Amino acid sequence: MPAFQTVRGMRDLIGEEAQTFTHIIANARKTAELYGFKEVITPHVEPLELLSAKSGEEIRQRMFIFEDLGGRKVALRPEFTASVARVTTTALRNEPKPLRLFSVGTVYRYDEPQKGRYREFWQSNFEIMGSAKPEADAEIILLTNNLMATLGLQGYAFKIGNIGVLRGILNQEGVDEKTQNAVLQQMDKKEYETALKLLESEKTRQMIEGLIKIKGKDWQDTVQQIASYVAGYEKAKTAADNLIETLKLVTESTNLTITVDAAFARGLEYYTGMIFEIYIPQLEIALGGGGRYDKLIEAFGGESTPAVGVAHGIDRIAIALQAQKTVIAAKGTKKVAVLAITEALKGEALKIAQQLRAAGVTVEFEIMGRKMAKALEDADKRKVDYAVIVGERELTEGAVMLKELVSRQQTTVLIKDLAARIKG
Ligand code: AMP
Repeated sequence: MPAFQTVRGMRDLIGEEAQTFTHIIANARKTAELYGFKEVITPHVEPLELLSAKSGEEIRQRMFIFEDLGGRKVALRPEFTASVARVTTTALRNEPKPLRLFSVGTVYRYDEPQKGRYREFWQSNFEIMGSAKPEADAEIILLTNNLMATLGLQGYAFKIGNIGVLRGILNQEGVDEKTQNAVLQQMDKKEYETALKLLESEKTRQMIEGLIKIKGKDWQDTVQQIASYVAGYEKAKTAADNLIETLKLVTESTNLTITVDAAFARGLEYYTGMIFEIYIPQLEIALGGGGRYDKLIEAFGGESTPAVGVAHGIDRIAIALQAQKTVIAAKGTKKVAVLAITEALKGEALKIAQQLRAAGVTVEFEIMGRKMAKALEDADKRKVDYAVIVGERELTEGAVMLKELVSRQQTTVLIKDLAARIKG
């Protein structure tokens, strides 16, 4: 029999790597708590119709689609927003707005596998439903900053734009929505030449070409340039002013590194306003991205509900932590092996193991029926800190032997003092 492999683009996370993921997820959940987000757990499998409604051609073409045994066309979720939007328009329909919703889990896209790009990957996802204000945009950016900072990431920068600038120009120039989406998709991939070729009118092309050139490290200067450049396009100007307000709010409260790129676009079609991504200098791929999508809930049959959200790529954050050699603080708990000297003392030994666990000590109980010497040798290999050796003689005095494996020192300790002694 050949050894089985994971499906291409999907991975096993083992030991330390699994720990890193759990650590990131715990921090994301903590951030959700701090910012007042309620967790929602939705299915991995959703109706194809729901997932393909508004996600954009790019993602539509990469979904894992299948028919279930009841003949339903379904797919593995390629992102969380569609599911969260579904919940908003159904179970949470009558809840007072705004809703702040958090989800974390795996999503699936048939991307070409490479470093930082997988077919099953993890996202932590935050959505605010019901506010059209720049304050909501600012909160999404700030909670993302909180997550990156608490994880200990260094030198990360936010790339921020407003899709309304590009859409505003294209709309006013009469470019149809399908062409607009195709243009934005090319711009997302930085294929500016291809994007420009899709535009029929010379005037529109020149206008967009000029916009592409506006970018810079000084965000204040760049947004002002954008606002003046699009002064003749009402909706684009509103979008630029909105971006200025959001950035003011964000930077007045927190110190962030921000770059503004007028031609910045993102793959998902449903964005209507502010959009952003996070980068670190060591990686070319984004650690997370999000933006405002004011029309999606309506498209799903709900009341008109402005919304803004972000998805953090946990696999990429793990790569970033590794690239920056960030040490994830070990919990500092000692590991203990509990061993009985004789068969007859197994029960007593298990009782002591249970008492230690109740006191918060990590215990690996001997479950292989090995002799003492073998069991100690194994405990050494698995980097156990202490062996608790349960013997007849000590037990009669309410004690056990505590052996520190590194120093090989052995002392008799009263069972009632054992947990405190191990925890130091
Ligand atoms: P999106 O849902 O496309 O806005 O992506 C949000 C974040 O998910 C990105 O910034 C990445 O960090 C992460 N991401 C997207 N696609 C992949 C992938 N194929 N593998 C790993 N992470 C991904």
